[in-house]
Amino acid sequence: MTTTKTTDIGATLQQIAELTAAGCDIVRVACPSADDAEALPIIAKKSTIPVIADIHFQPKYVFAAIEGGCAAVRVNPGNIRKFDDQVKDITKAARDQGVSLRIGVNAGSLDPRLLQKYGKATPEALAESAMWEASLFEEHDFHDFKISVKHHDPITMIRAYEILADSGDWPLHLGVTEAGPQFQGTIKSATAFGALLRQGIGDTIRVSLSAPPVEEVKVGIEILQSLGLRERTLEIVSCPSCGRAQVDVYTLAEQVSEGLKDLKVPLRVAVMGCVVNGPGEAREADLGVASGNGKGQIFIKGKTVATVSEDQIVETLIEHANRLAEEMGLE
Ligand code: SF4
Repeated sequence: MTTTKTTDIGATLQQIAELTAAGCDIVRVACPSADDAEALPIIAKKSTIPVIADIHFQPKYVFAAIEGGCAAVRVNPGNIRKFDDQVKDITKAARDQGVSLRIGVNAGSLDPRLLQKYGKATPEALAESAMWEASLFEEHDFHDFKISVKHHDPITMIRAYEILADSGDWPLHLGVTEAGPQFQGTIKSATAFGALLRQGIGDTIRVSLSAPPVEEVKVGIEILQSLGLRERTLEIVSCPSCGRAQVDVYTLAEQVSEGLKDLKVPLRVAVMGCVVNGPGEAREADLGVASGNGKGQIFIKGKTVATVSEDQIVETLIEHANRLAEEMGLE
């Protein structure tokens, strides 16, 4: 989700471009005011990835987003209904324009009726709320929507999605909301998404971190790649180091990662700290180094191609990685 003011069209498009370059596939922008709604058509037109407008209460902004070329709108029909029953008109407009919708149920904004019934935002409360919202679209024969039931607690969130997946075949958008600062939020999201996606539950994901959105995209991509759901690009296999290490593995792995961070190729590079387990892993990788005795033994596709002094390891690996990328025609 963008963090710029949506009314600042230039800054929003710039951020969308950065997110796209980082591998983002869909972007959501907040639309809390009439000025934001006015900015949507230009943003939707100029963005190279689909734009979703995030609207909470105002039906007129929903119509503006649909007419303005947004690919989708996140809006809860329950909220719209409270103010003015325009759900039917919204489903008609969305259908006419081929725009999909997303119901986003969050622990923090759970319907008071369900809060009273369940006492707090339990998985059952989240799922029931989402199914009630879904019924408001379905009663107008509108089915082009997906659902999210986000919670900050992965266990609650996982169970809520499992209940939904058992109850219908709605597409589901996964999210651990307010997951926290980068480290904690990454772990929570990876845990929850892993548990659900391995069961085949989940169609789109959003990682929520108290960190720049590009970091959210990077984490999301890494989760999908780790689960084999997105083609892996560069992978660094590096050992954790131990008492046998003969080089500073942490620094070596950092420097290699930094040097190759822009390489978008499906290449596995192993950075290993000693000659005990190192050669085995380095041989298995596309490119690898096993370090020891002030030297680094460099492997490409299982074969030793060079032995270099320790201070040349990083440079040599980067050089070979770039050459391999060029040969693959994917640099
Ligand atoms: Fe220890 Fe060597 Fe394994 Fe690294 S590769 S963890 S240094 S045994």
